[in-house]
Amino acid sequence: MSVATTCPYCGVGCGVLARAAPDGSAQVRGDPAHPANAGRLCVKGAALGETVDLQGRLLYPALRGADGALHQVSWDDALDRVAGTFRRIIDAHGPDAVAFYVSGQLLTEDYYVVNKLAKGYIGTANIDTNSRLCMSSAVAGHKRAFGEDVVPGCYEDMEQAELIVLVGSNAAWCHPIVFQRIAKAKEQQANRRLVVIDPRRTATCESADLHLPIKPGTDVWLFNGLLAFLFQQGAMDARFVDAHTQGLERALEAAQAQAGDPAQVARICGLQLADLLAFYRWFASCERTVSVFSQGVNQSSSGTDKVNSIINCHLLAGRIGKPGMGPFSITGQPNAMGGREVGGLANVLAAHLELADPVHRDIVQSFWGSPRVADRAGLKAVELFQAIDEGRVKAVWIMATNPVVSLPDADRVKRALARCECVVSSDVVSHTDTQAFAHVLLPALAWGEKDGTVTNSERRLSRQRAFLPAPGEARADWRIVCEVARRMGFTQGFEFRHVHEIFLEHARLTAHRNAEPGCDDSHRVHRQLNLEGLAHLDRGGYDAMTPVQWPVQANGMGTSRLFADGCYAHADGRARFVATEARMPVHAPDREYPLVLNTGRIRDQWHSMTRTGKAPRLTGHLPEPFVDMHPHDALRCGVREGELARVRSRWGAMVARVKHGGGILAGSVFVPIHWSDQFASDARVGGVVNPVVDPVSGEPEFKHTPVSVEPF
Ligand code: SF4
Repeated sequence: MSVATTCPYCGVGCGVLARAAPDGSAQVRGDPAHPANAGRLCVKGAALGETVDLQGRLLYPALRGADGALHQVSWDDALDRVAGTFRRIIDAHGPDAVAFYVSGQLLTEDYYVVNKLAKGYIGTANIDTNSRLCMSSAVAGHKRAFGEDVVPGCYEDMEQAELIVLVGSNAAWCHPIVFQRIAKAKEQQANRRLVVIDPRRTATCESADLHLPIKPGTDVWLFNGLLAFLFQQGAMDARFVDAHTQGLERALEAAQAQAGDPAQVARICGLQLADLLAFYRWFASCERTVSVFSQGVNQSSSGTDKVNSIINCHLLAGRIGKPGMGPFSITGQPNAMGGREVGGLANVLAAHLELADPVHRDIVQSFWGSPRVADRAGLKAVELFQAIDEGRVKAVWIMATNPVVSLPDADRVKRALARCECVVSSDVVSHTDTQAFAHVLLPALAWGEKDGTVTNSERRLSRQRAFLPAPGEARADWRIVCEVARRMGFTQGFEFRHVHEIFLEHARLTAHRNAEPGCDDSHRVHRQLNLEGLAHLDRGGYDAMTPVQWPVQANGMGTSRLFADGCYAHADGRARFVATEARMPVHAPDREYPLVLNTGRIRDQWHSMTRTGKAPRLTGHLPEPFVDMHPHDALRCGVREGELARVRSRWGAMVARVKHGGGILAGSVFVPIHWSDQFASDARVGGVVNPVVDPVSGEPEFKHTPVSVEPF
């Protein structure tokens, strides 16, 4: 019998019906009952069944011995080593001498217990996630504008919109099912328009009515220009702005000063004035407008300002909280949002409560009954590994992620891990680039073997369910964390026997001391993230849970769209305009490094390819690392299509095959993020990317590193 579960790749969160096949693979098809995909799957999801074999799996715990090799050990030995080493380092150097680096691949329940251990029991907020690399600018932008990290709309809004604006998103490749929904809606109604704002002419542009090949990094000028234009054209919803917002004057002043002249904006953004004005006029005239933004916006040293410059335009026009309109951050990973819900970032607490707020800290600590709660923000991903390199953090537990491949300045990450006193890696695969530095390996359950929940880009909780037996000695991540917690002496707080009990605790915390909605109580603690309606599920109810969007009312009903009442999570109930600063990326190209490196996903691979790299039909699409560049730039650099070239920056170098035809602007190159040294030598683009981060969100500037390209 098939089991209803959820795809483990992108944040669209498609439902999957899966069952084990006798040959060790799995049969997989789209779940027609899942609202995200109604039975559709993209090529990655459809190939899931080819990726569940045990080749390359980490099946037994291992410790690195005095001979430098990893040796299989018992779980008791491995867990004692982790707990003992963490305890010793904390006793000697304090709680901030240890850290956790986790992943949007974890299920919400896994995320919950590791956050509880770090923030509530050890007393450090040094727990960050690889979601920092893709979503944290959206999180910071949401919090500034709405008072809470919330996506206001739902996927249906994209189908109901008259105008869809895709900003920094190659949705056709990176969020294929959402893109198919948009494309189908467009087919059904010819006057629906699609604008794509992206320096590259990607596959997404093939369906676009207008492609704006914006100069990398200039988005704030574009959207501040739009804000000024909307105001000048009288497209402001004055009643909405007066009743439900605050801060327009300053935001508008900044926008008009920086971007009041469309001709100048067009020059700065490298766009044709006529195209820019067409976009502005369409936005001004289409009430039902959804602006979908993704990593092209977030992965920037001004990512948070970019997010707020987009949200500002929706607030000015009152286009939020109603069908077919709103700003829409589309998540990269399957459970980036679920992780955020339980405090999976170094600067937040569980249940969308704030580390910096003593009332919020008290809510969490009293609910947990924990001995302490971290009282200051921890280290964000990039600074966490810098702290390891500097010896300030002496032990790190890395869960379900491969920072030696995925972080910027990744050679420094290698150096940091080589110096670290204790590196623990819990993962489903063996022999990752990161595990080369691990002292302890802990085998975790993979997709198809583990149970829990995930939340997709439209706030929809879905179950991931097991349909395969646990292989070897692999265990669920939450069980591993609870075992270590108990061995560290935390006998209370980690007695969970089943994942259902963790979910209930999480759901209850979201409702704990959460005031009723309303805009009249300036001291309320009111979170939209409220799972009250799921907080009393019994085990059978949890097992049978169907996809639902939070907030979940007491009667179990979900909520597809937020802010219909014009009431936001700031204490005064008003949304905030944010005065945003248009600024160029931190490092500009120069004579030595004249090209701008942009990085991203390709259609058929997922992250560092540990799963998608197993499916021949996926590896056939683009089989090796490449550097996509304009033919004129290739000529100038002395490299030719089909030949190997070295891509070099101030931070490192890699080797890739030169390719044309990716719709790249002259002056830019594109390299995919997926390859690691496990698949090809010198293939990690992370080693080339600069470590600059957005000052608010801490998200790295993956889309803009000055590089040179030379013959290999
Ligand atoms: Fe999986 Fe995303 Fe494809 Fe859906 S769109 S099947 S969630 S990879």
